Amino acid sequence: MPELPEVETVKIVLIPIVKNRKILKIDVLRAGQIEGDVKEFISNLQGQTFLDVSRIGKYLIFHLTNELVMLSHLRMEGKYYELLESDKDSKYARVVFHLDNRHKLCYDDSRCFGILKLSSEATYKSDEMISKLGPEPFYIDDVKSLMKKVKNIKKPIKTTLLDQTLMTGLGNIYVDETLFASNIHPLTPANKIKEGEWKKIVSNAKEILLQAIESGGSTIKSYHPGKDIDGNFQTRLKVYGKSGEICPTCHKHELRFIKVGGRGTTFCPCCQRKVGEPLNVAITGKIASGKSTASEVFKEKGYPVLSSDKVVSELYKTSELTNKIEKAFGLKFKDKQVDKDVLRDYLLIHPKDKRKLERIVHPLVEKEINNFLSTSKSPIRVVEVPLLFESNLDRYFDNIIVIDISKDKQDELISSRDKAKALYLKEINKTNKIDQNILKATYVIKNDGTKAAFINKINKIITELESLVK
Ligand SMILES: [Zn+2]
Repeated sequence: MPELPEVETVKIVLIPIVKNRKILKIDVLRAGQIEGDVKEFISNLQGQTFLDVSRIGKYLIFHLTNELVMLSHLRMEGKYYELLESDKDSKYARVVFHLDNRHKLCYDDSRCFGILKLSSEATYKSDEMISKLGPEPFYIDDVKSLMKKVKNIKKPIKTTLLDQTLMTGLGNIYVDETLFASNIHPLTPANKIKEGEWKKIVSNAKEILLQAIESGGSTIKSYHPGKDIDGNFQTRLKVYGKSGEICPTCHKHELRFIKVGGRGTTFCPCCQRKVGEPLNVAITGKIASGKSTASEVFKEKGYPVLSSDKVVSELYKTSELTNKIEKAFGLKFKDKQVDKDVLRDYLLIHPKDKRKLERIVHPLVEKEINNFLSTSKSPIRVVEVPLLFESNLDRYFDNIIVIDISKDKQDELISSRDKAKALYLKEINKTNKIDQNILKATYVIKNDGTKAAFINKINKIITELESLVK
C-alpha cells in the first residue's frame, strides 16, 4: 500500500503530465471506483482543464477549471499510467481520461479499493475524508496540542498514529520506522508518551518521510510515459519487514514481530522497551542453570511466578492427560496419574516419541500460561519456562531472561542430582534451543559466580523492570 512519500512522488510525476491539459472525454470502465454519481462525475469533468495537483495526507487533489476538484485515494493498488491514445489501456484501467495532446491518463486498480470523487475548491477541505485528517508532522511545531488530544487515549501509540486523525502521514511502514528511531515500544499507551518522546516522534517522522520522499526522486528521474506511476521505490528501511534480523542499532537482539491492532509490527524489544504497561516476564535457561533461584527472588519481591514445570506436574495428576498419554504410548499408570519416572524411562528407550508427547502437553501448558498472564493484576508477572523457544511461547513475553551457565558447572550440578535422572536431563539439554535463540533474550545473565552474586544480578533486573511499569 502506498504511503505518504509514495503518494507525494505520484503527485510530482503527475503534475507535468496533466497540468494545463484539457479533458476531452472520460471513460468510466468500473463505476464502483467513483464515489458519488458517475454521470455527474463525467459531465462535470469533461471539458475542464487540469490546473494543478496537490496532496493532503494520502489524498491526491486534482484542481480543475470551473472551481472543480477531483479527489483520488490509491488505497492498496491504485496507480496511474500516462499512455498514447493509440496505446491499449493499461491492464486494470478503471477510469480513462482522454487528454487534448493525444495522450490519455489511465487510473488503474487491480483490487478496486481506490476511489475517485468529485468535489469543489470551496468544499473539498471539509469533505469528511479530508477534514478528519490531522496535520502532517512537517506542520507540527508544538507537541503539547498532541498530548492534550491523547490525554485519555489508552490505545497503543502505533494504533493511534495509524488512525491519521492525530497526525497524518504515517502508515504501517513509517510508523514502525518512526517508533524504532524514537525508542518507543509500539504498544505503549498513547497517553503515557511524554513530551520529550512526542518531540522525538514528530522530528523522526519528519526526517524519515523526507528521506523517503527524496528517494522517490529517483522514480521521477527514471519515469517515462507508459510506466506505471505508483511511487514505489526502494527506501532504506531499518525495521519494517525485517523481523528475525539483528537490530541495526544495538546489534545485540533480534527484531521481533507482533500484531498491534491487527497490523504486523516489527520492533527491537531492547531498544524499544515497553513502559507504563504490565510486563510479562519469562525466565528460561538450560537445566540446572538457576531458573528456580531467579524465580524465588521475584517471589520474595511479591511478584506472582508460575512454573511451567509445576503446571505439567499438576496436569499429570489429571485423568484427562493421563488417559491421553496412556493411549498414545500404550502405557498403563497406577492411580490414574502419570508416573514421571515411568514416562522418563519410556522416553529414554523411545526418544522419537518425545515430540509426540510435546504435542499433547504443550497446548495444555500454553492455555494455563495464557490464563495466568491474562488474569494477573500484578504489574510484573513471571513465568518460568525451560523450553520457552521450543514451545514457541516466547511470543507471550515482553522481557525474556535467559540464564546462562558454563558447561562444567552445569554438569557438576546435574551430576549432584539423582543418577538416573541425570542421564535423562543431559539428553533433554541436547535438544534445548536456547543457544540458537539467545538473540531473543532481553537479559542474558551468567550464573557462574556465587549464589549471592547471582541474586544480586536478578535484583538489578527487577529494579529496571519496576522503573518501566511505573
Ligand atoms: Zn535494538
